[in-house]
Amino acid sequence: MKSEELTETDRTDEADFVFKPVRPVQSEGQAPCQLNCPCSTNIRDWIAPIAQREHTGASLREAYEEAWTRIVDHNPFPAVMGRICPHPCESGCNRIGKDGNVSVSALERFLGDWALEQKLRLPRLDRESRDESVAVVGAGPAGLSYAYQMARRGYRVKVFDWHPEAGGMLRYGVPKYRLPRSVLDAEIARITELGVELCLGVRIGTDLSLEELKADHQLLFLGLGTQQGRLMNIPGENGASVWVGTDFLERYNEGHALSLGEHLVVIGGGNTAIDVARTGRRSGARVTVLYRRQLEEMPAIDSEIRHAREEGVDFEDLATPLEISRDASGALRGLTVQRLHPGKQDDDGRHVPQAIPGDTYYLDASAVVIAISQVTDWTGLEDAESMAGAETTRQPDSRLTLGGDVLRLGIASQAIAEGRKCAEQARGEPPNSLLADKTLPTVKVDHYAGADSVNLTEALPDERLLSPDLETSHTISENEFLAEVQRCLSCGSCLGCYQCWMYCNAGSFTPLEQGGPGQYFSFDSDLCEGCGKCIELCPCGYLSPK
Ligand SMILES: Cc1cc2nc3c(=O)[nH]c(=O)nc-3n(C[C@H](O)[C@H](O)[C@H](O)COP(=O)(O)OP(=O)(O)OC[C@H]3O[C@@H](n4cnc5c(N)ncnc54)[C@H](O)[C@@H]3O)c2cc1C
Ligand code: SF4
Ligand code: SF4
Ligand code: SF4
Repeated sequence: MKSEELTETDRTDEADFVFKPVRPVQSEGQAPCQLNCPCSTNIRDWIAPIAQREHTGASLREAYEEAWTRIVDHNPFPAVMGRICPHPCESGCNRIGKDGNVSVSALERFLGDWALEQKLRLPRLDRESRDESVAVVGAGPAGLSYAYQMARRGYRVKVFDWHPEAGGMLRYGVPKYRLPRSVLDAEIARITELGVELCLGVRIGTDLSLEELKADHQLLFLGLGTQQGRLMNIPGENGASVWVGTDFLERYNEGHALSLGEHLVVIGGGNTAIDVARTGRRSGARVTVLYRRQLEEMPAIDSEIRHAREEGVDFEDLATPLEISRDASGALRGLTVQRLHPGKQDDDGRHVPQAIPGDTYYLDASAVVIAISQVTDWTGLEDAESMAGAETTRQPDSRLTLGGDVLRLGIASQAIAEGRKCAEQARGEPPNSLLADKTLPTVKVDHYAGADSVNLTEALPDERLLSPDLETSHTISENEFLAEVQRCLSCGSCLGCYQCWMYCNAGSFTPLEQGGPGQYFSFDSDLCEGCGKCIELCPCGYLSPK
């Protein structure tokens, strides 16, 4: 509109208008996926080398290798975690409101598998070897993560475990249909290739004392996990055909045949209970899970509950056994079950179940597995027991740290993170995790093109039951992988879209010669006219108002 064409009202508005300059700052923000990953994996920053490889000129192989190297900085088990992690990273993904979260775990699994096929080796941080020797008790994810982080820093590391093979609950708990042992073995082998020595079949506390370990090693880490399943303290639970969940899975995973009879009843609602139930279906039994709260409060991974249902597992919630009955010969016959109502909510918002007086029923059963909780076996290690549960893992003996399930029952990515953090503490390094001073960026999701999320394909329930060890889900294809990496919004980190450069009339942005994921342009505030257009256009929130 030319000025002569302005109406009287327009003229008044124009006269009142005071220009307030808005200038940008370039600042990296915290991506919510990393914030939610217990392992603090820098997801955005490992996706970027692949998604932005056209800008950097990297070959596909170079980009994959860079991405994998960034993942293993935090987590040496991408192929394992890409399969079994309940992926809390995805729950806060900024793409959810648009067309579904980025399938981070599917990407992690693809890259983990690719690296195994390519036989990539874990990178060392220090070429120098150190004199100090390190002992790790427990070859689960916590102990192996600690061992890996110390070995790549040049330490001599010995890992002790009383099991005949390494892996902890990943081997003796998680069933093979969720985690093929070839994948677990290969990711563990990479850690031993760094020089980590495995001393298996040795129980610390009985075969070898903690004091002996302290005499031979300068630093110690205890990743004992929780190996002892708890019983319920109800009549009839001690006897044939009743197992605790961890023993049941361990025996099954070691290849022992378990005689379950016609109907297996599983008590509990966590991952162990669901793994037992699905394993029971693979052994040919009818399976019922009894859970004392409401189904929607079950702590097990949602997709596992869905798979269990697909495989024919029945669920009865708000129910708990009062007694397990046996006949005169001691053979298990069934359970007396108490019905419950949800009760009042506790401080965590969970309902505290209450018995409904007089409301009981009888359930026939040929086997029972109690999978309600697990505790650590501290035999011979009582001196260290007082450290468990302490907020800081370096008290009272500064040479000794603890991490993983021994501190609190959790998931594998937490155990891996704790192993890493203890290694960083031992070296006096700042934690390689979240950067507290970073803010969550405002991402303009409408600026990005829509694209559907990739879904894992799964074997049909009948096929799964016919082949008990068959992996139930498949790794995505390379085409799916490459499409999915493009869906990442690069929240809080410059992705090189050129919008600021194109639309800045003042020419404040200049392409960097060495620009790459995270920063592609320099910004000259002296040239900036303060129009704020670049902030408005920057999709990922890397440019924000000063
Ligand atoms: C059935 C089941 C299913 C699960 N599913 C999932 C899942 O899908 N996703 C997920 O993220 N997490 C899952 N978890 C949880 C996950 O497995 C654990 O959080 C994780 O393994 C804990 O790691 P950790 O190293 O602390 O302990 P563990 O894995 O328990 O390893 C501890 C190791 O210490 C050894 N040890 C103990 N005491 C001694 C001693 N005195 N001397 C020598 N060695 C010793 C044990 O033999 C064991 O190998 C599951 C757990 C179970 C039980
Ligand atoms: S470890 Fe789990 S939470 Fe972390 S990036 Fe992998 S899938 Fe996501
Ligand atoms: S879009 Fe990418 S960077 Fe943003 S939260 Fe999702 S995975 Fe993370
Ligand atoms: S507008 Fe694009 S190129 Fe410019 S800072 Fe934002 S993401 Fe980077």
